[in-house]
Amino acid sequence: MISFVSNHKNEVIMDCEKCRQQLPGYLGGSLPGETGIEVEKHLVSCHECMDQYRLLVLSARVMEEERNAEMNPFLSTRVMAGINAWEQMKEETQSVLSPVRKLKPLLIGFFIAAAIFAGNLIGNLYKFQPAARPVPVEMAYMDDALIESTSLFDND
Ligand SMILES: [Zn+2]
Repeated sequence: MISFVSNHKNEVIMDCEKCRQQLPGYLGGSLPGETGIEVEKHLVSCHECMDQYRLLVLSARVMEEERNAEMNPFLSTRVMAGINAWEQMKEETQSVLSPVRKLKPLLIGFFIAAAIFAGNLIGNLYKFQPAARPVPVEMAYMDDALIESTSLFDND
């Protein structure tokens, strides 16, 4: 096991392990002031933990975007966002990668196919709702929650 603390014992108040345990709380702003300051001091003096922190920030941002995307019911908006992001990336890399231009129709096709696929999936989910069919008498005595949870597993 590598000990980072022994390398710079004087500047580092909090050790790496303790610092990393506090990182999610630090990111979420839920640490008590004193602990937050200790984490900050450690991050300034320790590149390894700073990298960990950056990684955490990045993954938190990705998760946030995923959540926003799930809440957006308009698939076309997501398709356009994807194409816009691609356009932007293309502009940034144009000087390096000019043949990339030929790929654009393929990419739009891909996004549309993905949107259609997702649409079909949602359509199928509605189609197979048990309530749409006549319910047999013995089924009526079953727990509704049980039916829902088993039908969810069947779709997999
Ligand atoms: Zn550290």
